[in-house]
Amino acid sequence: MNQIAVSSDKISSVVKYTQDAINVISKISKDSNLAVLNSLLKPTREITVQVPVRLDNGDYHSFKGFRVQHNDARGPFKGGLRFHPSVTIDEARILAHLMSLKTSVANIPYGGAKGGIACNPKELSLRELESLTRNFTTAIADNIGPLKDIPAPDVNTNAQIMAWIVDEYSKGRSKQYGVVTGKPIELGGSLGRDEATGRGVMYVVRELSKDKGLKLTDAKVVFQGFGNLAYAGAKLIEKELGSCIVGVSSSAGAVYNKKGLNLDKAHDYYLKHNSLKGLPDCEFMTNEELLLSDCDILIPSALENAINKNNAKKIKAKVLVEGANDCTTFEADNILNDQGVLVVPDILANAGGVIVSYFEWVQNLNNYYWSLSKVRSELDNSMVNAYDEVANTAKHHGLTMRMAAYVVAIQKIAKAITLRGV
Ligand code: GLU
Repeated sequence: MNQIAVSSDKISSVVKYTQDAINVISKISKDSNLAVLNSLLKPTREITVQVPVRLDNGDYHSFKGFRVQHNDARGPFKGGLRFHPSVTIDEARILAHLMSLKTSVANIPYGGAKGGIACNPKELSLRELESLTRNFTTAIADNIGPLKDIPAPDVNTNAQIMAWIVDEYSKGRSKQYGVVTGKPIELGGSLGRDEATGRGVMYVVRELSKDKGLKLTDAKVVFQGFGNLAYAGAKLIEKELGSCIVGVSSSAGAVYNKKGLNLDKAHDYYLKHNSLKGLPDCEFMTNEELLLSDCDILIPSALENAINKNNAKKIKAKVLVEGANDCTTFEADNILNDQGVLVVPDILANAGGVIVSYFEWVQNLNNYYWSLSKVRSELDNSMVNAYDEVANTAKHHGLTMRMAAYVVAIQKIAKAITLRGV
């Protein structure tokens, strides 16, 4: 089993960034309360459940499921569910913490949570997957709800899984579409949710180029990944910003062409072969080689810790945009900063997904559904506002974009905690 999570006795990069940001806030803001700030280093609630499933061969198997609720001072807990062999309580804790910061940077009225099931969904039949999802929903039902904690898709979970959760959660209750986001359109989903994270990444790259005077036409862009985020983001960056996508990857390896890839052909090939190996007119390489390839903008959009102390020094890109959560380790971040690489942190760069989740929830609560153009223009506004707030804080206090994003996020949560009183 591929264990990538940080073990509980090791301090995660996210906690280290938070500690640094708390130190910055203590210096720049006289009325900050250290105890309130430090309360964000630990989650509010951690839930571990056993999820029994009757397998197709008649055997009974119990899977481990988790939900970590980090903070809800600004609104209900919010964050995805991940079905992957590497899911652990430690991983969920880190990702829940990031969600509290992300919803705060994005200015949407939520806290942060994350969860999932340690399983390999590729080894389960559709019936087994449905049963696993329904039994997990029952196990955590008392702790989730439209005004309590709202799960969403994450790694290996999708609109179908969200539909099963809505159905199971609604048993014995009234229909509650707002209990999860990322649902199918026919069951209260929002137009534009599928492309939202990729579209948000494109808006961030556009704002960054205006702010820093970067030339995007013909700039070489590499995405590590070729899932929902990377495919939508790559297509939009090519179409709307005129950049050239030179590399993409899947877990089995990467493809690179310095003159640019044909994204539609690459995607069709990937869907047909479940791999990019053998795609014509490009070089096939490992995922690690792709990260070090010649490009201007690198967008890691796969799993955690992709950029670490072993590869950070060799990265050629001058701009790193974090499509995936927690994809740069603390050590690597310091190396990149020393090398003058501009890093746009995950909690800003990939906030488009949870922002459109918020729009979906607003539509569910109002029973009034928006047009695609309204979703896109509202997302554009939200991303521009979040970018400006982080960039202005960075300039004003001489901080990196990551530290500025953490400072902005933590200050808002601390203010909400203080206003509520203890
Ligand atoms: N899983 C996504 C994230 O990490 C979306 C979460 C959500 O929409 O609640 O941001």
